[in-house]
Amino acid sequence: MAALFSTRPFSGRLLSLMVALLGLTCPAFSASADQDGGNNMQFPWDKMRLPRHVIPVHYDLLIHPNLTTLTFSGSAKIEITVTQQTSSVILHSKRLHITKAAIEAGGARSVQEVQVLEHQPFEQVALLAAEPLHPGHSYTVSISYSANLSESFHGFYKSTYRTQNGELRVLASTQFEPTAARMAFPCFDEPAFKARFSIKIRREPKHLALSNMPIVKTVNITSWLVEDHFDTSVKMSTYLVAFIVSDFKSVSKITSHGIKISVYTVPDKINQAVYALDAAVKLLDFYEDYFSIPYPLPKQDLAAIPDFQSGAMENWGLTTYRESALLYDPEKSSASSKLWTTMIIAHELAHQWFGNLVTMEWWNDLWLNEGFAKFMEFVSVSITHPELRVEDYFLGKCLDAMEVDALNSSHPVSTPVEDPAQILEMFDDVSYEKGSCILNMLRDYMTADVFKAGLVQYLQKYSYQNTKNEDLWNSMTNICPTVDTDENELQGDNFCRRNQLSSSSAHWTKRETLDVRAMMNTWTLQKGFPLVTVTVRGKNVHLQQEHYMKGVDSPSSTEYLWHIPLTYITSKSDTVQRFLMTTKTDVLILPEEVEWIKFNVGMNGYYIVHYEDDGWDHLISLLKENHTVISSNDRASLINNVFQLVRIRKLSISKAFDLTLYLKHETHIMPVFQGMNELIPIYKLMERRDMDDTANQLKEYIVNLFKDLIDKQSWNDEGSVSERMLKHSLLLFACVRGYQPCVDKAQEYFMKWQKSNGTLSLPTDVKTAVYAIGAQTSEGWDFLFSKYRLHSFNLEKHKIELALSLSRNNDKLQWLMDQGLHGDIIKTQDLPHIILFVARSPSGYHLAWTFLKKNWEELVEKFELGSRSIADIITGVTNQYSTRLQLAEVKEFFNSLEEKSSQLRCVQQAIETIEDNIQWMDRNFEKVKKWLQNKKL
Ligand SMILES: [Zn+2]
Repeated sequence: MAALFSTRPFSGRLLSLMVALLGLTCPAFSASADQDGGNNMQFPWDKMRLPRHVIPVHYDLLIHPNLTTLTFSGSAKIEITVTQQTSSVILHSKRLHITKAAIEAGGARSVQEVQVLEHQPFEQVALLAAEPLHPGHSYTVSISYSANLSESFHGFYKSTYRTQNGELRVLASTQFEPTAARMAFPCFDEPAFKARFSIKIRREPKHLALSNMPIVKTVNITSWLVEDHFDTSVKMSTYLVAFIVSDFKSVSKITSHGIKISVYTVPDKINQAVYALDAAVKLLDFYEDYFSIPYPLPKQDLAAIPDFQSGAMENWGLTTYRESALLYDPEKSSASSKLWTTMIIAHELAHQWFGNLVTMEWWNDLWLNEGFAKFMEFVSVSITHPELRVEDYFLGKCLDAMEVDALNSSHPVSTPVEDPAQILEMFDDVSYEKGSCILNMLRDYMTADVFKAGLVQYLQKYSYQNTKNEDLWNSMTNICPTVDTDENELQGDNFCRRNQLSSSSAHWTKRETLDVRAMMNTWTLQKGFPLVTVTVRGKNVHLQQEHYMKGVDSPSSTEYLWHIPLTYITSKSDTVQRFLMTTKTDVLILPEEVEWIKFNVGMNGYYIVHYEDDGWDHLISLLKENHTVISSNDRASLINNVFQLVRIRKLSISKAFDLTLYLKHETHIMPVFQGMNELIPIYKLMERRDMDDTANQLKEYIVNLFKDLIDKQSWNDEGSVSERMLKHSLLLFACVRGYQPCVDKAQEYFMKWQKSNGTLSLPTDVKTAVYAIGAQTSEGWDFLFSKYRLHSFNLEKHKIELALSLSRNNDKLQWLMDQGLHGDIIKTQDLPHIILFVARSPSGYHLAWTFLKKNWEELVEKFELGSRSIADIITGVTNQYSTRLQLAEVKEFFNSLEEKSSQLRCVQQAIETIEDNIQWMDRNFEKVKKWLQNKKL
């Protein structure tokens, strides 16, 4: 990938002097273009954002990919309007070879020759007209070009797959978000330049073409070439355009609102498309009802692409997916994959409204797309698929977000960005997870009905337009009646009444009116989150808020202040009480004295809580004596918070370990997972430092904590989704950690499976554990790998990849990563998680780091600088480092790279995390060792 900033930022390379005279020449447009402009021509624009005075209205695109030569040619006719006189049209183009360009004046039927200049650092071209373009007139820009199909995962790119007979087949598909539409056609590639698109695609008769809209007609060009004409789209952003040329097969159904839904996949996998089809039908129907806005297109295609970098993409009317995100086999898929498939479809379909219909003005507010889509996954799936109990997992999103948001390198949800790498970096946990968590907090605060009314108002008001943060808050603000009238349809909703009961003890706010914008600005324009410290003195509850930051001993008195919608329950009342805290300190008065108080009920709020004095002791006793008095999410949040407080020295590590003792009696998935999430990384840090004795003691402690639960697990696929997911994780953990009853059973299963030459059907949820144990011997590893090659079923492949990466044989681990990079046997799309698997295995973390350093250039070329994949690799490989030597090594490597790489946010995150780990180990290692020696389990 070429650097975006060259040392000569505005030199303007002359791409082509090709001047096309396509039709009649009007006297007013005499051909006077400077044909000798040569290399001295100045590129007429010096900003990364396009000028606002040329506005695209309609694109007429003809695209002709050649799947044999792996090239494509295209022509774009773009109708534009001009709002001020100009002699140049600046638009985006990247790696396109422009062969012809002209500007035609609308009414005059005249064509003017133009010069084309390219400014590669900004991915822009300028069309220079001899005669100026006048405001109020419309013009058509015509550009012919050719290019190679991209070898990466963005732009118009090549994908391949093998049929069951081993034949290699090629297809071409698109991924444009955020800034790659310009790699497929010259365009005004910013989300606010919405236009309509009429797309034509040429293909061989044996292939089929898909795009956002349905085909209106197909024309024979020659006997070996046909041209599909797609219907004109609605007004939309360039990043949502999509087209695919392939030999896919499909299954279809009609929703109750009359929309045709189809799932497309490579022909051999078409029987895995049924689950996604049914889920999509249900979900699209749900959203049409929920938003009270009809889905505006006649069809929605969901296509599984064999090579895909992220999980999925919401192109309007043609959503694209990684195969493992869309395809589901009831016989072979695990419980978690059903959950994932359903949620990812829910996410992409929510985008058809949030993102496609109403789009953020610019990428700084990406969270308006992604936070909402993430949030809507939970809203929709909890209703369309109640058996999946998605609401149980929402908490995990917020905890993930807090993990990165607690670092100094975090950023506000709404953050200025300009260049493509910065834009890509926005696709992170802060935009997605934190975005969704603060929306959930707002909904909890406003009540579901009022929140929904605000959303619907927002979507209706801004349909086919672009928005900023404040547009959303304004839509949320004027929902409550100013006068309490009986006719108001929102009457009866708690929120509006609650707001008026300002003198009640359960009040939200001391002020008369509620300012959603003021409250939400504190969550979107400031990075990080608050720590609320609670001190109980009799009936008085003293509250104090401060900015929680990892690695900082006593958070400095920053300017940060949040409007925190606090909730709490007490030993005397499980009715949720509410209080909006808008100052640094405040006092609550309880009706009576209590034994314990728990804030942030269900952890619906994006903040953590510290209980001063003996506050934690009371909660720890509560957990030990009768943990089910508070909800599983409350338990999980206590486990999380207690360890967070150790990080900033508010609590001792032994207090946190004391709390974990109760887990012996825990059976619910979220607290169990949270307990593992806190404890496992601790022994991993020790393993990396060869502190094996204590690491082993800790492992033994964790296995003991969950032993009863592990022993209770049946080795079959029975149970609810969350029970099955719990089983999958527990057994994998137990086997990998060498819990003998688990290892014995897994070995027995593996031998039977091997004897049957892989034909024996293993229970899906225990498969990973069985494979992981099997892969520990060289022979077992080779056998597993031979099965990997044959499998067409992606989820099966992922399980085997994980098992193979748990080998203790370094040569095998190295070979796995090399194959992932090579991309033939192991697809390159799987390389990021293979590197992470290897990095996590006890013997592999060195290998993973060396691999990252050695192949940096190639990784960036494939996955793009700033992408989530690159960030995941960097942070995943280094997050268990805890020595000064390792820190120096990581710093040295990234400092040796060019600025764009060393300045990546994920590099800062990696460095901060290692620094935090160093401090943590310095302070706590001896204490953990001592605690484990004296433990009372
Ligand atoms: Zn999304």
